Amino acid sequence: MKAFLALFALVATLILGYFFGYFRAGIAVALFLGILIIGARYLESIVTAPPEPEVADVSGYGLKYVCTICGLELRVEKAAKETAPRHCTEPMELVREDGKPPLRPV
Ligand SMILES: [Zn+2]
Repeated sequence: MKAFLALFALVATLILGYFFGYFRAGIAVALFLGILIIGARYLESIVTAPPEPEVADVSGYGLKYVCTICGLELRVEKAAKETAPRHCTEPMELVREDGKPPLRPV
């Protein structure tokens, strides 16, 4: 691919340089290749998106997050990571429906 691009740049510079001058043709080809490479990398980053996080269904455990400041409760249906959500700028506390903390961290 690199050899093809280098050959393309050389041929394009020679052909364009014959009509528009080699200095201007060189700048044009360099800009074209730069935009092409940046665009190709951007497209590549879209195609190779990060994989979906592993989500576990924990709706049967009766887990909920409680805000210790204002009392807001959020029931946990699916868990993907261990970081607790924040409310009133404080991390929320994880408890079970019956008020006890869970046996194992979710
Ligand atoms: Zn709150």
